[in-house]
Amino acid sequence: MRTSEFPLQTLKETPADAEIVSHRLMLRAGLIRKLAAGLYTWLPLGLRVLRKVECIVREEMDRAGALEVLMPAVQPAELWQESGRWDQYGPELLRFKDRHERDFCFGPTHEEIITDLARNEIKSYKQLPVNFYQIQTKFRDEIRPRFGVMRAREFLMKDAYSFHLDESSLDETYQRMYETYCRIFRRCGLDFRAVRADTGNIGGSDSHEFHVLAASGEDAIAFSNASDYAANVELAEALPPAGPAPLPAEEARLVATPGVRTIAELVESFGIPIERTVKTLVVAAAAEYGGGLIALLVRGDHALNPVKAQKLPQVAKPLRMATEPEIRAAIGAGPGSLGPKDLPIPCIADRSLAVLADFAVGANIDDKHWFGLNWGRDLPLPELADLRNAVDGDPSPDGQGTLTIARGIEVGHIFKLGRKYSAAMKAQVLGEDGRALTMIMGCYGIGVSRLVAAAIEQHHDERGICWPTAIAPFEVALLPLRADKSYRVREATERLYAELKAAGIEVLLDDRDVRAGVMFADMDLIGIPHRLVVGDKGLDTGQVEYKARTAAEPQLVPIAEILGFLR
Ligand code: ATP
Ligand code: MG
Ligand code: MG
Ligand code: MG
Repeated sequence: MRTSEFPLQTLKETPADAEIVSHRLMLRAGLIRKLAAGLYTWLPLGLRVLRKVECIVREEMDRAGALEVLMPAVQPAELWQESGRWDQYGPELLRFKDRHERDFCFGPTHEEIITDLARNEIKSYKQLPVNFYQIQTKFRDEIRPRFGVMRAREFLMKDAYSFHLDESSLDETYQRMYETYCRIFRRCGLDFRAVRADTGNIGGSDSHEFHVLAASGEDAIAFSNASDYAANVELAEALPPAGPAPLPAEEARLVATPGVRTIAELVESFGIPIERTVKTLVVAAAAEYGGGLIALLVRGDHALNPVKAQKLPQVAKPLRMATEPEIRAAIGAGPGSLGPKDLPIPCIADRSLAVLADFAVGANIDDKHWFGLNWGRDLPLPELADLRNAVDGDPSPDGQGTLTIARGIEVGHIFKLGRKYSAAMKAQVLGEDGRALTMIMGCYGIGVSRLVAAAIEQHHDERGICWPTAIAPFEVALLPLRADKSYRVREATERLYAELKAAGIEVLLDDRDVRAGVMFADMDLIGIPHRLVVGDKGLDTGQVEYKARTAAEPQLVPIAEILGFLR
């Protein structure tokens, strides 16, 4: 490309409302322009970067055997009502009506849509496992859109959803996605950490976030210098204090009922397959009873479903259904509709009564709350709890090495969803024995547009962006000095340009006829990794001046050797 064909939209001024460096540089380098709060246009230069990231993501997802689809951004309310999220999802969900007064939303994520697709398209266990992905525009009406495309309202996400017959198959795909994410972020040239994470309002059991390390990151993460230990500190903050709280007398009596001491035993006694976590277990139970799970009393490791329990002689009258005033009292909720927001973390943290009413079936409870349920079971949460008071340099909770506490930008997030959506939406397949089985799901997101901003946070200097080559808009900037005055420079530049292009190198030839200083400043600002300067002086000895964007000094390279030098 030539700058005459590819106008650069660089700005000298630092935009006043841009708080972090990536936002400032994206505006100044002419990658994006703001339309309204959280809404951005990608200019040609920025779009080249976005497409490169997208391409890496697509290649790696394809390599991992995932299948690309493209789902509508606009989603009918009915599916969200089926999963229960129409009521739970707060104002981040952009809702609207069509001309027939039917409710719709602009998708912030696509669990409902893919689950609907899967229940219609996948009929047999033989079609499993399968992993669908898309690279698509999402909308979240963020309370505080900021930092440009870093926290936008409309943004580009790669979201993938896998379907399985059993946990071990989910584990396998989850692990493959974990490795795929590592490949993607490595290829993008990012210094990142995968950390244990909260499942947020998407729900599920196991979850990892991928954070690009950067001082402007909105999350605090902790990782060991000697092991794989890494966690989101905010998760630790949401945890109850370490050590199980004693059960009060009434409950102690209940759980002491012979044969039913733990959730596992209880659920086994119902004949429900035991899931790895309480959460999926409850969802499975809910599905079993056709959504009739009315109340669940949870304390530590113990849970009882009163609806079913009443039918079991060995757990005679363990609990009754919680009334709404009781729920409100237990969780300190005021009048008005009772939703997930009303079930805050402290209700677990202080081990007070946690009651889920029928509106809680599926997911309508804050997922941090569920996290509390898992404590002491299959997740080493006390380790995480230790993090709450950690500072840089403390011993790692896993006993290996010391901790570094750093800021991170969440660029990816993988979850084991279990049966949360498939149970609520009855996504079933026929098993080997002809019985209908509810599929198990995983989901995997990457903030493609956020990743571009995160890369800049990590790769810049006082002069501008320093793109990792894999996602740079161009690989080489070719700058002729005083081309208007020198036929020799023009001719050598054109020859080099043709040669580089023929070798498949993406080169931007600056033919603007501006001062060298302006060219240098612009190319540094937009961050092209390699710069070649063609001038009369160098040509005297058959050389051009080469400088890597991050190098301090230029060097002379014989023109004949340039291609080999760049490769
Ligand atoms: P955050 O904690 O930053 O709000 P999230 O946990 O809500 O993100 P997920 O639901 O996990 O986001 O979505 C998957 C990915 O989408 C995130 O890891 C992030 O990279 C990206 N993402 C989420 N919200 C935004 C946003 N408002 N703007 C740009 N990218 C986003
Ligand atoms: Mg969010
Ligand atoms: Mg998050
Ligand atoms: Mg997340």
